Amino acid sequence: MSGVHRQELNSLQPGAQNALVIGIIMHSFNMKTFDSTRSRFNHGERGVWTFTLRDSEEDTINVTVWGSVQFVKKLSSNFHIGSVVEVINPKVLERRPEDRNELFVPSVSSQCNLTVNEGKALVQAHDAPTRSKYEPLLMLPIRSLATTRCLKSIFENLETLRDQYVDVLVVVTFIGDIRNVITRDGRSIRFRNFEAADGSTDEVASLVLWENEWINRAAYWGPRRTVLLFTDARIAYDNFKKTIVLSIARKTLIIENPDVPEATTVRDSVRYYDPDVMSGNTFATPNPDSISTVMTIQDISNKLNKQSKEGKRIQFAAILKAYIMDMNVDSLNPGIISRRCALCKRTVLDENDSCMNLECPSGNGSRVPMNVMSLNLKVNLKDDTGYLIGCKLSGDVAERVLGCTAAEFQAMIIPQREDLKWKYALEKCEIRLHILGPTSAFPNAVYNILSIISNEDEDENGNTQPLDEFIDMNV
Ligand SMILES: [Zn+2]
Repeated sequence: MSGVHRQELNSLQPGAQNALVIGIIMHSFNMKTFDSTRSRFNHGERGVWTFTLRDSEEDTINVTVWGSVQFVKKLSSNFHIGSVVEVINPKVLERRPEDRNELFVPSVSSQCNLTVNEGKALVQAHDAPTRSKYEPLLMLPIRSLATTRCLKSIFENLETLRDQYVDVLVVVTFIGDIRNVITRDGRSIRFRNFEAADGSTDEVASLVLWENEWINRAAYWGPRRTVLLFTDARIAYDNFKKTIVLSIARKTLIIENPDVPEATTVRDSVRYYDPDVMSGNTFATPNPDSISTVMTIQDISNKLNKQSKEGKRIQFAAILKAYIMDMNVDSLNPGIISRRCALCKRTVLDENDSCMNLECPSGNGSRVPMNVMSLNLKVNLKDDTGYLIGCKLSGDVAERVLGCTAAEFQAMIIPQREDLKWKYALEKCEIRLHILGPTSAFPNAVYNILSIISNEDEDENGNTQPLDEFIDMNV
């Protein structure tokens, strides 16, 4: 390609001729098609595709490709987020602040936009050793993290922040399946729900991806593992949810697992979890020490009933002051002791040697499986306002509560096991719970016990009331 000359984004001037720009694709919108038979060009069906390119820590630019559907489709399906490309001979136009299109593309550093017109400009792969210079840019924030806001401050100020853009650093806690919705004009659009947390609050942000590139990338996200940095996430009224929410807008840039120390901090904020709390393995559990909300059983029921009417899956954490009515330590069900993978904590089924989790070294065969025994108990709770039946007490938490290991428990005869529960039987306890609302797949709420603290030692004033009734409920 003679005549073109290599331009860094930071030196690119409007009107530049024969420019050649190299960069990594940070963001890619869905290709759109439209009928231009009635326009003055009369080209029939046309396509358009916009992506965001970056060539240094500071420099980003938006590129729009125009042409026949065939041409645009080929480019948009060949190049993805993470592709290092050369944009050859684009039209270099100055951005205008009054341009409404600027509202629907990421905010970039360059004063220009690039337009690639079929037949006049090209986009091609940059197959040179220098491509490795661009690849790390995919994981670098485009702005200082000093401007990020925590979810707690966002959720507490939704009204004030309405219609504003914010930067947020979160860790993925739940990834939904790909779904389809039919638009008013009959098109089928793909989307994917996901949830994210940052440890500043028990509440999670419920978000939706609409761009195919991100919908596909989310298939590789791991709950509690993948950290996302949103630049210009939008706080806006959601017509469907009838409330103000944090959302991913057309302006929003997403950086996966940003290469910053804060990513580790936010990942650690949700590391307390029980992967077997529900099948699907996609829910994060809060750190019990961070829970401060005290609720009664009635409060919990009200919250679950109110939220499920709105059709939204919820999870929250609470401290409950209640009596332990029963614990099924005396159950003859062999399921109260199970084998779990020592690494990923998933249940190992009787017929298997390992967790069979392909993301786990023990499950995918790259390590010799090591399994540990784990308790899976159920506990019934009561306070002045009602009962919670079948709360889950498992793993390390169960061992701490009972004061013995799963192996020690297994060696005990039934009367010895029964003795374990009397420690808590007549005491009002402080129980930290992680509560997951029902979903279409799991119609019952899940009450996951994170810790039980007996008031015995703490209350020296004799305020713990003896329990008149000790109801034995076999669960
Ligand atoms: Zn495993």
